[in-house]
Amino acid sequence: MLKTFPIGGIHPPENKITAEKAIGYLAIPESVTIPISQHIGAPSIPAVNKGDSVKTGQVIATCKGFVSTNIHSSVSGKINRIDQVTDSTGYKQTAIIIDVEGDEWVETIDRSRDIVTEIKLSSEEITMRCLECGIVGLGGATFPSHVKLTVPEGKKCNVLIINGVECEPYLTSDHRLMMEKGKEILTGISILMKALKVDKAMIGIENNKPDAVNHLTGLAKAFKGITVHALKVKYPQGAEKQLIKALINREVPSGRLPLDVGAVVHNVGTAYAVYEAVQKNKPLFERVVTITGKSLTNPGNYFVRIGTPVSKLIEAAGGMPEDTGKIVNGGPMMGKALNSTEVPVVKGTSGIILFPRNESERTEINPCIRCAKCISACALNLEPFLLMVLSEKGMFERAESERITDCMECGSCSYTCPAGRPLLDYIRLGKSTVIKMARERIVK
Ligand code: SF4
Ligand code: SF4
Repeated sequence: MLKTFPIGGIHPPENKITAEKAIGYLAIPESVTIPISQHIGAPSIPAVNKGDSVKTGQVIATCKGFVSTNIHSSVSGKINRIDQVTDSTGYKQTAIIIDVEGDEWVETIDRSRDIVTEIKLSSEEITMRCLECGIVGLGGATFPSHVKLTVPEGKKCNVLIINGVECEPYLTSDHRLMMEKGKEILTGISILMKALKVDKAMIGIENNKPDAVNHLTGLAKAFKGITVHALKVKYPQGAEKQLIKALINREVPSGRLPLDVGAVVHNVGTAYAVYEAVQKNKPLFERVVTITGKSLTNPGNYFVRIGTPVSKLIEAAGGMPEDTGKIVNGGPMMGKALNSTEVPVVKGTSGIILFPRNESERTEINPCIRCAKCISACALNLEPFLLMVLSEKGMFERAESERITDCMECGSCSYTCPAGRPLLDYIRLGKSTVIKMARERIVK
């Protein structure tokens, strides 16, 4: 029987329309908008001024503190301005706008097609290279990778877990990367193993991608200590705690990190970016993005330069269908609706989905019928209907004691509710208030 996590979970329609679409290269736009905060932690500090010329791969903003990272230019050209822009979350933030002139790369980047498997850097040098090259978690979390590779005193990692699950419907960027860059990913995993000083890595892939399971299993025979594991198709199998439970049967307690049970989790996309940074000296200035939707004429997967407007991806996919009702950044379960197609692709952009109008409207909200389906769906054993009521009524202390901050915002509860209750909307509101309250307590 295939491994999975034991509690909750759902199986939404997969809609992996682009699973067979090989990764293309999206044309470089005339101008890019590169936000200085594309990661968890402190925003980077701009290191360029208006009018400066930059090359592709050049640092344009430097990390501010340990939990932060560098940002690089994704194009060559001139800094047009440093300005406040609206990002994909709808909030204003500082960004560096660059007018494109050609595509001249920093000379130290190895642009050859050779796959380099010999790892020459030491553990410490790998961690430093990840910081220098601006590597962050590409599974959506965008946590700076050098932080995850720095194991604190008193803690020990004994297994590296690689997330190739891609359990969100529609998205196929990780799937394609595993099919087309398998050897590079496995080398990236070996690099991460060396940095963490572990001799064991396990790749988890949902069993709806048997081609990727077989392909990586074959390639992994040449890589010491790496095994590939097919997992049951169940959402949210790609969530860190659920993946750890499925693969090594360890439970990460409430409020703790994977490292507390001896594990570190990285995404396959991150492993590829680490390969490029360490073996090719290539900073993270492009990533694979899925552009998809049932009405698009040419959905696909593309390497996209960071800072490219989402509108360019939509153009490449055949243009905006007339029946478009909603554009979502990310997967349909955890992604957020966009209110402009001019927002830039950033390091955390895994996919853009265009939903037709008839699939975009919210269902009517009816009273709770106490069916408990939301409880059955929750992989964290929370009581979503109760958390919603507590958030709605402003009972935040009780919501905290009911573990509202454990909620990973997977959306399984809202998806499964027959009464159309906006469970996650209220839980998000309650969770952010509880986190704010906890921070204020620490300050006092
Ligand atoms: S969104 Fe939160 S409460 Fe709802 S199922 Fe997911 S983890 Fe549970
Ligand atoms: S699934 Fe919806 S209707 Fe059922 S108990 Fe939860 S909130 Fe109520």
